[in-house]
Amino acid sequence: MNDDILKVLYSREQIQDATEKMGKQITKDFEGKDPLVICILKGAAVFYSDIVREINTYCELDFMDVSSYGNETVSSGDVKIIKDLDTSVEDRNVLIIEDIIDTGRTLKCLVDLFEKRNAKSVKICTLLDKPDRRIEGIVPDYTGFKVPNEFVVGFGLDYMGHYRNLPFIGVLKPEIYADNQE
Ligand code: 5GP
Repeated sequence: MNDDILKVLYSREQIQDATEKMGKQITKDFEGKDPLVICILKGAAVFYSDIVREINTYCELDFMDVSSYGNETVSSGDVKIIKDLDTSVEDRNVLIIEDIIDTGRTLKCLVDLFEKRNAKSVKICTLLDKPDRRIEGIVPDYTGFKVPNEFVVGFGLDYMGHYRNLPFIGVLKPEIYADNQE
């Protein structure tokens, strides 16, 4: 699996540092607000398990599984809820934890949904951001790294279901995509 990686963009240590910094800021900002911290499955699961342990104030955890229609590398704008939250967001301070924001379409749908469900506030924390690719006007409140316009894997992010378990963020060798197009 490691042989499929062309280069490492962010090491486990760099991700850990960024996660600690974001956790400190989130702790400060959400002190006394008892946020509902939402993991967007599956991509955010690895980052989520780290960031929630850096949030040093009362909060509740919940999970939502969504998938965007379309092919594997570009989201189409329609989000299908595969697993909804178990907790009501009404009158709650919501913090969405994402793996990566690309076009912003997935998050736009989720922010609109939580606002429609009468959340008190909706904030976004993402490990990675690709601002150059943005179509919707989504700006995260907490960002680990701004990444160049490359398809990345690892630390929860997949290609065809694989590589989520890599402990770093990397770029795949071009032949991996080529092999799958044959
Ligand atoms: P958006 O709706 O912002 O365009 O897309 C967000 C979703 O697209 C992410 O949650 C992720 O599943 C997928 N995505 C976007 N860019 C990448 C990437 O570089 N690598 C991987 N593995 N998934 C990506």
